[in-house]
Amino acid sequence: MTDLVLALNPVQRRRIVVRGVVQGVGFRPFVARLAAELGLTGHCGNDEASVFIEAEGSSEALAELIMRVRADAPPLALVEDVRDEPVAPMGDPTFAIVASRTRHGARTLVSPDVATCPDCLAEMADTADRRYRHPFITCTNCGPRFTIIQDLPYDRPATTMATFEMCRWCSREYDDPDDRRHHAQPIACHDCGPRLWLEEDGRAVRGSYDEILGYAQRLLRDGAILAVKGVGGFHLACDATNAMAVETLRSRKQRPGKPFAVMARDLATVRTFSSLSPDEEAALTQPARPIVLLRSLQPTPLAAGVAPGLGETGVMLPYTPLHHLLLEPVAGADTPQILVMTSGNLADEPLCYRNEDARTRLGEIADAYLIHDREIAVPCDDSVVAVGTEGELPVRRSRGFAPLPVRLAGAGPVTLAVGGEVKNTFCLAREDMAFCSGHLGDMGNLETLQAFEVAVGQLLALHASAPELVVADDHPGYATRGWAERYSTEHGVPLVTVQHHHAHVASLLAEHGLVGTPVIGVAFDGTGYGCDQSVWGGELLSVGADVGVADRVGHLEPFVLVGGDRAVRNPFRVALAMLDAAGIPDPSGLELTAACPEDELTAVRSQLASGVGCVSTTSMGRLFDGVASLLGVRQRISYEAQAAIELEALARTADYTADLTMDVDDGLLRTGRLVRGLVAGVRADTSPAALALGFHLALASATARLAERTARERGVDVVGLTGGVFQNRLLLDELTALLRAAGLTVLTHRRVPANDGGLSLGQAVVGRARAARELGMTTGGVT
Ligand SMILES: [Zn+2]
Ligand SMILES: [Zn+2]
Ligand SMILES: [Zn+2]
Repeated sequence: MTDLVLALNPVQRRRIVVRGVVQGVGFRPFVARLAAELGLTGHCGNDEASVFIEAEGSSEALAELIMRVRADAPPLALVEDVRDEPVAPMGDPTFAIVASRTRHGARTLVSPDVATCPDCLAEMADTADRRYRHPFITCTNCGPRFTIIQDLPYDRPATTMATFEMCRWCSREYDDPDDRRHHAQPIACHDCGPRLWLEEDGRAVRGSYDEILGYAQRLLRDGAILAVKGVGGFHLACDATNAMAVETLRSRKQRPGKPFAVMARDLATVRTFSSLSPDEEAALTQPARPIVLLRSLQPTPLAAGVAPGLGETGVMLPYTPLHHLLLEPVAGADTPQILVMTSGNLADEPLCYRNEDARTRLGEIADAYLIHDREIAVPCDDSVVAVGTEGELPVRRSRGFAPLPVRLAGAGPVTLAVGGEVKNTFCLAREDMAFCSGHLGDMGNLETLQAFEVAVGQLLALHASAPELVVADDHPGYATRGWAERYSTEHGVPLVTVQHHHAHVASLLAEHGLVGTPVIGVAFDGTGYGCDQSVWGGELLSVGADVGVADRVGHLEPFVLVGGDRAVRNPFRVALAMLDAAGIPDPSGLELTAACPEDELTAVRSQLASGVGCVSTTSMGRLFDGVASLLGVRQRISYEAQAAIELEALARTADYTADLTMDVDDGLLRTGRLVRGLVAGVRADTSPAALALGFHLALASATARLAERTARERGVDVVGLTGGVFQNRLLLDELTALLRAAGLTVLTHRRVPANDGGLSLGQAVVGRARAARELGMTTGGVT
């Protein structure tokens, strides 16, 4: 009957609700323009969960509006869902944007931060524009979002911009539906926006912005280290072509070997030191502006200390107006056009993002601060991606991507998964969405644990949610596990723990929307607590229709770590154990004998004989370490996975490959014959690069055979590759090709990292499945 009345009435009104990333991306002005174009009246606005529209006019115009809010949505919007229903016509004279509404329950999605757009850059360069050279220029298409939001709905009072009162001109733009800055929350100008200044020796250096920026450029040119406040935190910057400055930064930051990322002025500058494919160019210029790992060219203008021992460099382009100004050339002056831009922290501490904190913690590192008074609500490190043969591989998912959710197949209790111990992220699963935090880092120190707590509090506040389930790793020694246990007790919320590699496999399934699909998961990484309490890391797990259950169906042949953590820091200790297991008691002729002091060698040998201080492991990361030592690549490491990364870099330089074999039997990847082949190769003076490549190919071939055999036995046709070792693109590409050639479907990470940064997503998925089965928790609360 209602439909009949509506059909006869030429003027109709519909209520339309649009969900997704629809706030802070220019959605309401877009709707207003569209309504005006279609001759519709009514209104639209934001609430915590959606953009709501009531529009009135002809049924054709209404149908077109409903179609085009999805089809023509602004570039940064992500429309998940559009629903509409008829309501009674009201006869509004115009179409208006109405004030935001607050209601409880469902919440909208927050947009990630977005690099400065071309329109803003053009205005910044235009002497006639009132935002000429404005260091905080933004519009509805660009600028900070996630990092300035304190609460929802996303309106200026709920952001750290609330303290800046808009001037008359900015207010006018903000209120004008036809303006590019209509409802752009971070809107600012020289008159009313945040202030930029430079601090040196505890004093503010006075002057115009141009004088301050010119002085900052001079400091950089003279080799100084500058702390620069960005979108998600502070960077430490120095001239990347100045070897002395780079070394000074390394020693002050207490970071001897781990590569630094650089920021280059533009693509032409990037091409002076890196190769750049069209896919890599697209990765560099996307709105998230991540760090992209690019192959280095020789000769290079970069100082050798930027990324020592590696054939690639992490590169990003400027993504804030301040970066553009800092990297701009100055007439007649030799200004740096490539800066080291590394996270503003000491060693493994968390990223500094508050001014006071930066002054305290970076005081011994930075010579001066380029700083401003727009506060950062949520710290967010730069993201890192690599470009493989089939697209982008996330290495660190943070600024520009967080907090975009991964859509899950089903709903469940509000779940907080706390992640692992290194490269930590946590994940909040609410209804059918999983929100992963930005990168928090290594949880081994108190500051990081505090940063973790702050970030958890912020994400829960944004979602107005209290966890009904907490999930942690099985490892009893992880700081995050301890935190989860305390949280569980204090809040009376059940805790589920999940085996490390099981979580890796589940994370891969979840990001592909394939939870419930039977898979053979190949989980290769450095360290994970195994079900038998030994150190796992070279695992094949079978996960069936119930993602909450995993069977270990194969693994690397166990070997011993002599002295636990000391073996991790000193790859030659791993090599000695592998030689012992391979029946080669005499390490003579191998470089490790020179690197290992005589007394240490004797001690390691006697431990191997007695078993004292030895722990058993199947870690694939350690196998790479041991091989790196055997080939003379590295005997001691200063950052995680250093030996493995350098081994891959060496293999890429090979002109030919050494013929090596890794045996497979009884569900095991055997190491004996492989190690004997490597040692024979070294003793026969085969090039280390050819041996390194031969090792990669032998491992890929053995893994492919074992995975294929297991998949056939179990009637499964999907194999997933996960764990930090699969950041090794040489191994990833080779293994993927072999598995495909065998007719299997191969899953690799595309949205969350293969490393422990992706762990929390998998924990949330497995935790929910286990809670449903073991605790009877399905859609929230105990049923
Ligand atoms: Zn813009
Ligand atoms: Zn203004
Ligand atoms: Zn792991």
